[in-house]
Amino acid sequence: MKRLRVDPIACDAHGLCAELLPELVELDEWGYPVVPGGPVPTHLLAHARRAVSACPTLALLLVDVERGPAPPPQGNGKVPGQVQCG
Ligand code: SF4
Repeated sequence: MKRLRVDPIACDAHGLCAELLPELVELDEWGYPVVPGGPVPTHLLAHARRAVSACPTLALLLVDVERGPAPPPQGNGKVPGQVQCG
């Protein structure tokens, strides 16, 4: 599953993504996109990909939805070769 993400550094607030994908993208009062944190519905994936492709600054991304926190480290938690401080 994929979700939308905006790189706030790269985004220039063109608003193009909100025009191409109004179902999922809203603009805040400064014109920056606000995207939902959840997965993009399957029926909107093609539109989401088009909006990502059209972003002039490559700020709009489709990323994998995280599957929850990583499992705890196995063993003693030390990384081989890692220098311990303190
Ligand atoms: S199209 Fe790209 S640069 Fe423009 S508002 Fe959307 S994410 Fe930002």
